[in-house]
Amino acid sequence: MSGSESKGPLDALRLAANGCHACGLAATRNQVVFGEGNPEASVMFIGEAPGKAEDEQGRPFIGRSGMLLDRLFEDCGIDRSDVFITSIVKCRPPDNRDPKRDEISSCQNWIEAQIRLINPTVICTLGNFALKLIRNDPTGITQVHGQEESRTVFGSRVWVYPLFHPAAALRSTTTLGLLKADLKRVSELALRPIPPAS
Ligand code: URA
Repeated sequence: MSGSESKGPLDALRLAANGCHACGLAATRNQVVFGEGNPEASVMFIGEAPGKAEDEQGRPFIGRSGMLLDRLFEDCGIDRSDVFITSIVKCRPPDNRDPKRDEISSCQNWIEAQIRLINPTVICTLGNFALKLIRNDPTGITQVHGQEESRTVFGSRVWVYPLFHPAAALRSTTTLGLLKADLKRVSELALRPIPPAS
């Protein structure tokens, strides 16, 4: 049995993603940051794109934003190893610029496949880029943060739970307070049945 078969479909997907050259970010990245965590997580956290530290180490949310997220997880009783953490764009945009539309769409097949395989109950989007892709709607985070919504996302019935990006919480104590208050509800939401599609 090959390594990818023995480790399961999510690891096979990781191997495939590691060789992705679908957009220009492949030329400047150090490595693909696929994501990490429990392959059977009931909660997925989806951010925007890796930064410098993530690109160097190949792990999501380990820079300043990630350290804040870890602290908030601890405050809110969320165990990082219980959840799955990733981003909609798997390679670092140069100089940490915003991901471009074509980069987001080139990368979309990876997040779609991750959601299908993990089949979470709750998708916590972190910031505007993940929110808009997952909801397929331009509504911004300030209007909808902390408001769970039952949706079908790439074929899976989930609670979509919009959260501010921790990078925004590093810049504003008001945003930090809102993110913390919203995160406190994640564990309760993961236990709540998702209504069928209407
Ligand atoms: N910000 C993100 O959106 N994703 C990461 O992995 C790191 C920072």
